[in-house]
Amino acid sequence: MEMAKANKLAIHGGTPVRTEPFPSWPRSTTEMRDSLVHTLEHEKWGVGSEAVKRFEEEFAKFHDARFALSTNSGTAALWIALKAAGVKAGDEVIIPAYTFIATASAVLMANAIPVFVDIDAETLNMDPDLIEGAISEKTRVIMPVHIAGNPCHLTRIGEVAARHRIAMIEDAAQAHGAEWSGRKIGALGSGGIFSFQSTKNMSAGEGGIIVSDDEAFIDTCFSYQNAGRVRSGAWYEHRYLGGNFRLSAFPAALLLAQFEMLESDMNVRDANAAMLDDALEKIPGLSCQRRYSETTRVSHHLYIVLYDKSAYGDTSRDEFMKAVSAEGIPVHTGYKPIYREKLFDLDEEEFPWLKETDFSATTLPMTERVSDEEAIWLKQSCLLGGSEDTLDIVRAFEKVAEVYSSV
Ligand SMILES: *Cc1c(COP(=O)(O)O)cnc(C)c1O
Repeated sequence: MEMAKANKLAIHGGTPVRTEPFPSWPRSTTEMRDSLVHTLEHEKWGVGSEAVKRFEEEFAKFHDARFALSTNSGTAALWIALKAAGVKAGDEVIIPAYTFIATASAVLMANAIPVFVDIDAETLNMDPDLIEGAISEKTRVIMPVHIAGNPCHLTRIGEVAARHRIAMIEDAAQAHGAEWSGRKIGALGSGGIFSFQSTKNMSAGEGGIIVSDDEAFIDTCFSYQNAGRVRSGAWYEHRYLGGNFRLSAFPAALLLAQFEMLESDMNVRDANAAMLDDALEKIPGLSCQRRYSETTRVSHHLYIVLYDKSAYGDTSRDEFMKAVSAEGIPVHTGYKPIYREKLFDLDEEEFPWLKETDFSATTLPMTERVSDEEAIWLKQSCLLGGSEDTLDIVRAFEKVAEVYSSV
């Protein structure tokens, strides 16, 4: 009787495993405040900002890149990087569809055509086996996304790009600190971008950055970021169609104070994620996002559990998740395949270079299976608690799994 009561699901009126919230995000520190006040009182706020320059230098070094150029968002960074890679109207850019919309909207904003490639069922990253088949004579860029901060197969994707003489640009918006074969990701191809939007593992409210080892590439990025100016030119000399996508000094000041915190946060997330991997893999019907053997560090921007309804009498992922959520664990279904967004019902007058392109027939089986039936997300801040907090996640999944496996 006692046992039955303890196991009664919160969704059925039982006591939830947890009522406390997980750590909130973003969080502020006295180092951030001091840095912000220093910039406010003693430095330039915009053009010529010392904080921006310092941040770009430190971020480049931190990500094993020779150069970095900050921007006011990750989306702007993507657009700029695509333009600097030479993307022209009507060119094709290969991207996954299991990602945030900005990956695709930046392609459209560059007057180019997104070509969607499916993900593999275990890493949830662009499947390297499918890329070659998506390449045409119009392909200009392959843009893999390190989903959840878990690196794509950069070696194989880089080889395909090199073989076809096209650029690889990494959408690393979720992958601060992630590593491939012991090297930080971002600058393994032509360049890569990061985001500092509020939810990201380094956050300044808004912001972004492009990293690269190629000086000419970064110089062209500078032009698109900065009203079409050229580094060596006069202030009122505009050679490209650029915009004002510069980062302000204040987010740069906030970010400068986060490198140490990022490292210690990463250690906490690594430990908690390892605990979750061990415990959740033991529950029938649940598995965790896999990484390639060359991956030496993931950033855990998201923690993704994959659910197999056949272990639960065909109870849907959404039903299972509602029960976990009622236990006090903030879980989410996450992305839908982005080609299903209304955006892709394109107006021919607004997008004349897409007249021949029909996205309505796009279907990617793995992307759809993962987003519609399998993925259960926890945000990175859920991995920032202590081991008891993490154990609550395990307890909630175990409790729900026990009840639902017997239906
Ligand atoms: C957050 C994100 C972006 C866009 O970054 P913003 O700073 O919000 O513009 C791009 N791609 C991915 C995968 C993201 O998660």
